[in-house]
Amino acid sequence: AGFAELGLGDNIVRALAGLGAEKPFPIQAATVAPILEGRDVLARGRTGSGKTIAFGAPLVESILRAQAGQRREFGRAPKALILAPTRELALQIDRTVQVIARSVGLFTTQIYGGVPQARQVGALKKGVDIIIGTPGRIEDLLNQGKLDLSQVQVAVLDEADHMCELGFLEPVQRILRATAKGSQKLLFSATLDREVAALVDEFLVEPAVYEV
Ligand code: AMP
Repeated sequence: AGFAELGLGDNIVRALAGLGAEKPFPIQAATVAPILEGRDVLARGRTGSGKTIAFGAPLVESILRAQAGQRREFGRAPKALILAPTRELALQIDRTVQVIARSVGLFTTQIYGGVPQARQVGALKKGVDIIIGTPGRIEDLLNQGKLDLSQVQVAVLDEADHMCELGFLEPVQRILRATAKGSQKLLFSATLDREVAALVDEFLVEPAVYEV
């Protein structure tokens, strides 16, 4: 089966082809349908497995469906959040997700530390659909009241084990608690050690599990 059979729309399928993805990798064949059904997902995907498209494509499709018929207003709060351990990974994720999002008229923005926050806050004020970033700066903007996560319906934790190793367990918990009640959670991790297990326990509800 191709990406269309998994439930993704024509524009997204074309964007994936443009990214060189014509035929789903196993992780994508396993996770796209459950994500579109709104289920939480726990996946043990490593870099190189195709995990970015595995969560990115259905996430964009879900937001699009939820917004069908609505105008995208200036200043709208983000509907999806992707958390990554490092700025480099956040940028890498955005390079893929941005292409998929643009294909259906949605916008992404990056929120990470080590650079002045003014531009990031400016982008948020205009309104974005998907935020991709690192826990430190995201929590910082949240605490300052400059980032509203209350409309976030889908939250992704990429490399959750790496985020915990870097000491981000508690920021990640506080960030996820600020998302919409009942928001869908997608957790990707190479390992499931104690801190990752704490995240699974608190946030994942009857997840679809994918193991390599
Ligand atoms: P990732 O694991 O998300 O970092 O992806 C690893 C690499 O595989 C990236 O260069 C992707 O563009 C590529 N890729 C992902 N999915 C597919 C696919 N279905 N077919 C071909 N290449 C893909």
